[in-house]
Amino acid sequence: MYVGLFFQAHPLVMTLFMLLGFLAIIASTVIYFWIGMLSSKAVQVTCPECNKPTKMLGRVDACMHCNEPLTLDPDLEGKEFDQAYNSKKKSKDGE
Ligand SMILES: [Zn+2]
Repeated sequence: MYVGLFFQAHPLVMTLFMLLGFLAIIASTVIYFWIGMLSSKAVQVTCPECNKPTKMLGRVDACMHCNEPLTLDPDLEGKEFDQAYNSKKKSKDGE
């Protein structure tokens, strides 16, 4: 048990490792909540093509049943479906 002896002789090192583990847990918790917040922003809409409820993430998304491109932004209506629209934020989003 060399490692145990090492930690006994160096309590500061053990504390440092415990602190690192603690920080890792905090980071994963933050990421977990962040993903939860992102998915809660999904808007439930009824697909005009197949009349089934589907969820939209961002301004444009495809229907999960029939793959029909959907948009929440009237400016993008009729335009070709492109996931890149989601990254182009408008100032009116206020985020
Ligand atoms: Zn559909």
